[in-house]
Amino acid sequence: YDDRDGKIWMDGQLVEWRDANVHILTHALHYASSVFEGERLYDGKIFLSRKHSERLLKSGEMMDMPIPYSVDEIEAAKQAVVAANNLTNAYVRVVAWRGAGEDMGVSSARNPVRMAVAAWAWGDYYGDAKMQGAKLDIAKWKRPSPETIPTAAKAAGLYMICTMSKHAAEAKGCSDALFMDYRGYVAEATGANVFFVKDGEVHTPLPDAILNGLTRQTVIGMLKSRGITVHERHIMPEEMEGFEQCWLTGSAAEVTPVGQIGDHKFEVGALTRDIAESYEKLVRS
Ligand code: PMP
Repeated sequence: YDDRDGKIWMDGQLVEWRDANVHILTHALHYASSVFEGERLYDGKIFLSRKHSERLLKSGEMMDMPIPYSVDEIEAAKQAVVAANNLTNAYVRVVAWRGAGEDMGVSSARNPVRMAVAAWAWGDYYGDAKMQGAKLDIAKWKRPSPETIPTAAKAAGLYMICTMSKHAAEAKGCSDALFMDYRGYVAEATGANVFFVKDGEVHTPLPDAILNGLTRQTVIGMLKSRGITVHERHIMPEEMEGFEQCWLTGSAAEVTPVGQIGDHKFEVGALTRDIAESYEKLVRS
């Protein structure tokens, strides 16, 4: 991803893609002082763009890392990147981090908070799984308690066990891993929220130790507007045997059907297809 033509916005300026570099003593590289957003541009418009920018600023606040840009400035930066790279359908990555500076210890208070925006074409996050249903492994790691780490922040540190779990899943021929949380409840995938269907009703984990995804919130709204009952609750892993359908939601993942978690198989049923198709229409409307 580093050596290509294009422009990346960095600290207020568009720079050449291959020159968008940071120093090796960047605080974030050593201590995970980094927050980010993943968004999608559809037909020239970023879906829920302002909400993503607002969440980025909140993630920065939660990490005691105030980002020196307003929502409007972040919006303008994203627009500049989309225009400079001539994109109409793309993935947009905004990242803010503690740079190199006065401190190289754990404290970073005197180091600048920097920000960058990049965007590139990125197709289906789970490849073929979009139609057939993704196969998920159960992660060996657990999502941590909100008393351990700010679980509502979209922060780099929360992704360490995601990468490890995704590698383990891929080694077993799965596309992703599903986490339980520190209490043993079903939590989320490594970059997406999870939904289940049983007897025409929908069940999804309470977002009390996971990211309350913007796609999750959008899909809950879609279900409720169809008059479908949505139970946001604590779900035990044993319950998955009784669930008929399952899908994942995320800005990158969109609505991806799940065909299997561990040994349990799900059908890619009518409601899953309906929600996936309706989401696809909504983001382009
Ligand atoms: N959980 C995790 C761990 C994620 O990385 C993501 C993707 N941002 C989500 C859930 C879904 O969030 P959203 O719908 O806001 O993209």
